[in-house]
This record gives sequence, C-alpha cells and structure tokens, in this order.
Amino acid sequence: MVCNKGPAPVPQHVAKPPLSQTDPSFSLPDNGPCVLGTQTTLNRTGSSMKQTLLWQSMVGLLLTAAVSGLWAQMEFPPTGPDPRWIPHDRNQPRPPIVTPPTPSTQAEPGRPPSDAIVLFDGKDLSAWCAMDGSPSRWVVRDGYMECTPGSGYIRTRRSFGDCQLHIEWAAPAKPSGSGQGRGNSGLFFGLNRYEVQILDSYENETYADGQAGAIYGQYAPLVNASLPPGQWQTYDVIYLAPRFDAEGRLLSPARLTVFHNGVLVQYHAPLTGPTDWINREPYRPHPEKLPISLQDHGNPVRFRNIWVRELGPPSKPEYMLPASLLDRYVGTYDQITIARDGDFLTARIGGKTLRLYAESETRFFAKSTDVVIEFKPGPDGQVQELVWSVGEGANVAKRRR
Ligand code: MG
Repeated sequence: MVCNKGPAPVPQHVAKPPLSQTDPSFSLPDNGPCVLGTQTTLNRTGSSMKQTLLWQSMVGLLLTAAVSGLWAQMEFPPTGPDPRWIPHDRNQPRPPIVTPPTPSTQAEPGRPPSDAIVLFDGKDLSAWCAMDGSPSRWVVRDGYMECTPGSGYIRTRRSFGDCQLHIEWAAPAKPSGSGQGRGNSGLFFGLNRYEVQILDSYENETYADGQAGAIYGQYAPLVNASLPPGQWQTYDVIYLAPRFDAEGRLLSPARLTVFHNGVLVQYHAPLTGPTDWINREPYRPHPEKLPISLQDHGNPVRFRNIWVRELGPPSKPEYMLPASLLDRYVGTYDQITIARDGDFLTARIGGKTLRLYAESETRFFAKSTDVVIEFKPGPDGQVQELVWSVGEGANVAKRRR
C-alpha cells in the first residue's frame, strides 16, 4: 500500500496567521483603565531604558531565531495534530532543545530554563517600571524585590500574550492585619486586567475567591497550598490571552492555569472578564500582548526569580512605551500622519489607519499589513524624519513644519 504523504508542508509565510496578527481592537473606543501618564522624566531614564530595550531586543531576536523556521506550530493552543505532518513524519522538525530550570530552595532561587525571558534575577528592576513608564520605586535588596507600600503597581516594559510565567513571592514574615489586609499583592496579566491573587493565606481566613491562588472574584483555588508567611512560594502560570474579532466581539476568553507551590490550583479557567473588587466586569477588547504587572496593595510583599516563556508562533518583541515618548513622534511626515491612541501610535498611510506596535524605542510595526516605521531622532533628540516601508524597500519621510 502506498503511503499517502498527506498535505504538503505549508511554507511558514503562508501558514494560517495566529489571531495575534489580526488587529482587532483598533478603532474601538477606550481599551480600559490603563492610561500612561505624562510625567515621565525621559531625560533621566531614557538612556538606561534604551540600553535595556536594546539588550532585550537582542535577546528576543536570538530567541526568535532559535525557535523560528518550520518548528512553528500552525496554531496555539492546538486544536488537533498539525496537518502538515503525518504520524511519525520523519520530515517534521525536532523541537528546540531547552535546558530545564533548576528548583529553588528557601535559601536560594533556582535557575530559569535556557529559553526563558528573565524578568527579575535578583539584581535590578531593569525589566520593570511604574505603570506610567517612569522608574519603579520598589526596592531591590539581598536578591529580591519588595513592594514599597503606596508607590503603586509595577509592570514589565515588555508586553506578553500567551505565556508560561514563573514567579516566587513571600508575604511579610511578621504577619500583620487579617483577611485581605495580610500579605496582599497580585499577579496581573493583560496589564492590570486579570489577577491571580497573592495573599498570606496561611491560617488567615478570607473569602474563597480572594485567597492565594484565586482568580480574584471569579475562581477560588482548588486547594489552599500556602506556606507560612516569610517563606518563598511559587506560582507557575499558563496564561492564554483573550481573542477578539475585528468588531471587538469576544472570540475566546482569557484562560489561566496556576500551580501554587507545585500544586494545581486553577485549571484552564475561563475568565468572565477583568477581575474586579466589586463587579464582574465584561470584556472590552484590547491588544493580545500587554505588560504583566504586580500589585501594590499596601503590604511589603517580596518577589524573586521571575521568568516568562512566550508560547505560540515566534513573534517580534513588543514594548509598552511611555506616552511622553510616543508623543515625541506624533506629527505629519510627508504623506504619513502619526497619532497617539492611548498606549499606542497609529499611522495613516494611503488613506488607511494602522495601529503600530513598538519593537524598540524607535522602531514600530503594524500587524494587519507588513508596515515598518523607524523614527530617526537627531543629535538633539528631536525627531525630524522617519524611514518607512510596506513589504519592501525603505522610504524617508520628513516631518512637516
Ligand atoms: Mg491582590
């Protein structure tokens, strides 16, 4: 019997685009409560941020190169075996090799897996900032970071969609307060939308859907796997970002799977919308990739050994830049008009308006069309021109006076 080879391998460039390549939330009103402030002191922070972003971009490109090529899955999460391959297909590329993580002890954190993006290794907060993009006021000491009560949430500079996240946290060793007032913080995906509760839930009574490992206000954890306050605890989380269609209708909800200290406490839980103290708010469309944030709930909760692995097809890194930086780019450059829409820039080209995503501090791309725009700051920091392309070439456009 002749073995039917099945469907021919699909070149990657014509593979079905992941949902992330649609541009669903553009042209829709307010994407939610996240607003970048305008008080960022760029002169003070711009240089270190630029170095950080350049470094992170290089790491991202290396990682992307390492996992690119035919290995890319056609869709994530999969809904069935990849149709490009028949069973035991000898032509199917082997998965990338990853050195696994080492476990942490109370005395010291373990090592992330070799393909992880390290968000905090105990040394500095270079991957983090305050919600408006300004420097975080949380403190770093002795290999951990600690929430400074009253200083506000912190977020990653880089944005993430579907991902695996590892984080270690410790509630204050000397417990004070009770219920929600004891060792409270939170791990948020989608910037500030979807919270996995962090709380000292060791012999601390509170409502079930607000204790450690809860998806706040929606799902109690399956069990209470808490360790005593002061001890390091782990969350290992699989986050799937919600998807929206071009009209902003929900296609699939955000989902969370959470292991607390290695124990499953949430399994593929479909969120009803953003987590909220009072209500179960409905979804409002937002970009698939957004920063991850940590909550300041007034308690000096500590964190260490934070890393993330992006899931799904390889993609460019994306950053959320401060509004004050985005505003430097707003203007008309020959036939292109750049505007700011909340946390994002838009480009009007050829009568069409496209949302732009920041690949670095100066380089942006669209997802609905292969448009790349790179702003060219002069020696004085002023931006008088940009280089743009659609699919090919490079064109210089001068800022109009
Ligand atoms: Mg909380």
